[in-house]
Amino acid sequence: TFDAACGKQWMIAMNKTVQEKKDVLTELDQAVGDGDHGLNMARGFQEVVNKIDANEYEDLGSFFSEVGMTLISTVGGASGPLYGTAFIKLAAQLKGRKQADLPVLAAAFSAALEGIKARGRAEAGDKTMVDVWEPIVTHLLKRGELLQVEELTRLAQEKLEETKNLHAKKGRAAYLGKRSIGHLDPGAASSVYLFTAFADVLK
Ligand code: ADP
Ligand code: MG
Ligand code: MG
Repeated sequence: TFDAACGKQWMIAMNKTVQEKKDVLTELDQAVGDGDHGLNMARGFQEVVNKIDANEYEDLGSFFSEVGMTLISTVGGASGPLYGTAFIKLAAQLKGRKQADLPVLAAAFSAALEGIKARGRAEAGDKTMVDVWEPIVTHLLKRGELLQVEELTRLAQEKLEETKNLHAKKGRAAYLGKRSIGHLDPGAASSVYLFTAFADVLK
């Protein structure tokens, strides 16, 4: 089962990865956007870790709410409100729970995905983070307790690769139109890091 201590581990692992991969995310965003996705993620998750490190959380709701609010307030750009909304939705679903098992987490992730899609008006195939989130959520909902964590990471990576062939319909990359084809989506890449870090906590 997953509790606030697991949540902390998840955010610490995510922060470690985005600090290490900051330049990778920046390069991806230089190709299709304004080149700040590495900076945005590095600043946002560092601030998340600073905040949660100093605090104790009664339940998963208050924990994820702090994560979401921190991302919204520290990350300028599309990704801050989008990831922020995802964590706020996780918080709403997990309110009052000290811990959650996989089926409950899967349902919470499903609400988080709906939050991202509503906020960004994006669907799968638009070449955004939704292209990683949606198949992962479907997989989580389907597998329930039988989840194979290695499969989660592999699936996320595979869906990221598929964004390369897509024509961007949302976000800054949409300005490039067909010229966005041939490039990975930066937010899909950071979402792979997020789900990889999550899978590592479940192991
Ligand atoms: P900005 O584009 O404002 O500079 P970032 O570079 O931090 O923000 O984040 C860009 C990423 O955000 C994109 O690669 C994409 O995955 C995601 N994104 C942007 N707009 C949308 C949207 N409308 N819906 C879903 N995801 C989006
Ligand atoms: Mg950007
Ligand atoms: Mg920007």
